[in-house]
Amino acid sequence: MAQHAILSASSASRWMACPPCARLEQKFENRTSPYAAEGTLAHELGEINLKHSLGEINKRKLNSEIKKIESHELYTADMPDYVETYVNTCLEKVSEAKAKTKDALFKIEQRLDFSEWVPEGFGTGDFVIIADGTMEICDLKYGKGVPVSAIGNKQMRLYALGAIAEFGFLYDIENVKMTIIQPRLDSISTDEISADELIEWAEEFVKPTAQLAFNGEGEFCAGEHCGFCRAKTVCKARADKNLELAKYEFRTSDTLSDKDIADILGKAEELSKWAKDIQEYALDQALQGANYEGWKIVEGRSNRKYTDTEKVAEILLNNEYKEDKIYKPKELQGLTNMEKLVGKKKLTELVGEFIVKPPGKPVLVNEDDKRPVFNSAKADFQEVKEK
Ligand code: SF4
Repeated sequence: MAQHAILSASSASRWMACPPCARLEQKFENRTSPYAAEGTLAHELGEINLKHSLGEINKRKLNSEIKKIESHELYTADMPDYVETYVNTCLEKVSEAKAKTKDALFKIEQRLDFSEWVPEGFGTGDFVIIADGTMEICDLKYGKGVPVSAIGNKQMRLYALGAIAEFGFLYDIENVKMTIIQPRLDSISTDEISADELIEWAEEFVKPTAQLAFNGEGEFCAGEHCGFCRAKTVCKARADKNLELAKYEFRTSDTLSDKDIADILGKAEELSKWAKDIQEYALDQALQGANYEGWKIVEGRSNRKYTDTEKVAEILLNNEYKEDKIYKPKELQGLTNMEKLVGKKKLTELVGEFIVKPPGKPVLVNEDDKRPVFNSAKADFQEVKEK
């Protein structure tokens, strides 16, 4: 069974911002998602391909491992294409490292212990390279729900600390590079920091914060990092922050000004996330017997359905209803499902010329969003609406 550290690297952005969350989260079930299992499978595929490319396993072993992975229920035909992006990125770095020095070190799926700064802290670096004073850690993120950048990424920094603790005695590491490859979002990002700066951050910030978190001490602090917190629905600090957000001082006018609307937009996203979390949690608890005064469980809407579609078709056809009328026209699978079935590369090879990406509908987002400003907003919006 996988070990779970109280202060895991993947939850570092959370416990570093809100130290007591680590102990509070222990009181709530850690539900595993199918996405995590899918990610593990993609990592296994990446690992064996890298091992084969670096001569650590032979072709026979590679093929037998691939067969095992392909027989997994979560395997899809597009997985090798995405994993290839990760493997190729690592191999490019291998070539660069070899060009710099013949003593380059490559480690695949390396256990990294950063307990010098974080009690019981450890993790796994997908791919670690050390060459000519620079250490680089590459991390495959197979998810596509949340974009993850390497810039200032706490998880990657902890891995880097673990790698310094492991290899710093043998290698002179001056610079640290951290790269996140998120192939399903077409994203590769890298952050760089000097080893001295990283260790200073670890000593001055990580060590004392981790100790507070490990002891269940420190101040609760709600923010964007609450998203994956297991305590997020019942956490009082998050509720306080959201209820504070909901208080709004209107300017003296009968209608909202543009400034009012801009302010409310800034609060609405977090508030609606919180409200949705509370609704899901309350339903779950109510189904297990919790009683919320003034609320009850009822049956939701449901749609009628056929119990035997073949029989229904047979009777209707016998009653002279035409086949093309009683059946829906055949419809192609959507592109995501088709890629899973055929594979991303193969699909592009076969029918790429018939795939286009039409312009997206305009959406209002915070100005920090990385996408460029929508052009000729009015005209394009009209066009999209008319389609
Ligand atoms: S929900 Fe947010 S504020 Fe509450 S414990 Fe978790 S991280 Fe801290």
